[in-house]
Amino acid sequence: MHILRSPREIAQMRKPGLLVWRAHQLAAKLVKPGVTTGEIDAAVEKFFVEHNAIPLFKGVPGKVPFPAVTCISVNDEVVHGIPGKRVLHEGDIVSIDTGCKFDGWCGDSAITHPVGKIEAETQRLLDVTSGVLALAIGLMGKRSKWSEVASEMGTYVRDAGFSVVESFVGHGIGREMHEDPQVPNFVSNQLRRSGDFALEPGLVIAVEPMVNMGTKQVKGLPDFWTQATQDGKASAHFEHTIAMTPDGPWVLTGPPVPNEQTPW
Ligand code: MG
Ligand code: MG
Repeated sequence: MHILRSPREIAQMRKPGLLVWRAHQLAAKLVKPGVTTGEIDAAVEKFFVEHNAIPLFKGVPGKVPFPAVTCISVNDEVVHGIPGKRVLHEGDIVSIDTGCKFDGWCGDSAITHPVGKIEAETQRLLDVTSGVLALAIGLMGKRSKWSEVASEMGTYVRDAGFSVVESFVGHGIGREMHEDPQVPNFVSNQLRRSGDFALEPGLVIAVEPMVNMGTKQVKGLPDFWTQATQDGKASAHFEHTIAMTPDGPWVLTGPPVPNEQTPW
């Protein structure tokens, strides 16, 4: 069972959320042809360290511990790409995923950027993926159960002619980055039977649709981390940490509003 957070706890979670938002603004400015994914990761790490935030991704256990503070996944890479010497080229798309802990609370968010000018169909993939996240956020204030949102997300992506990745899902988030419940971006019998949850005040989840241009199937690469599409076609990923409040969903990793107190 997942934990519901108090209004005070949710307000605390806005701090790592804003730091993650800010880290993404910094990363976005660096995305251009000729930049390496390692340079983007180094800038995000410096930002977190300077702001007393603990990067959440570095050291995550696996066959080898994850070595960076961001996951950077290019083109057909879906998630968990390792930043390094890879150079970004005009026409690429680059998914940047990062999270931090601040004052004991976690934030997690991902954005896929175009590198220079990209093909129209690739831009449509980005628009559909950010669009399905926006759809989910809007529906969270209007539906009572997650399965209703997940079902509409699946339909939205299918209608666009793309596919939702099913092997990776979103998650509850709070004191730890990955908490209950699991938050799939599609509906299944398993979700309806035993995985469903109410969209009630206090719920805090990371919603993170991954959308593939072709098959939904993914494969692991030999670096033990990177997941890529099986057909080599492009994939996009957008994620926000979202809290349910009595006034509706609050995007904790979204931009500051005017006069909002920021932790830096
Ligand atoms: Mg993430
Ligand atoms: Mg996540």
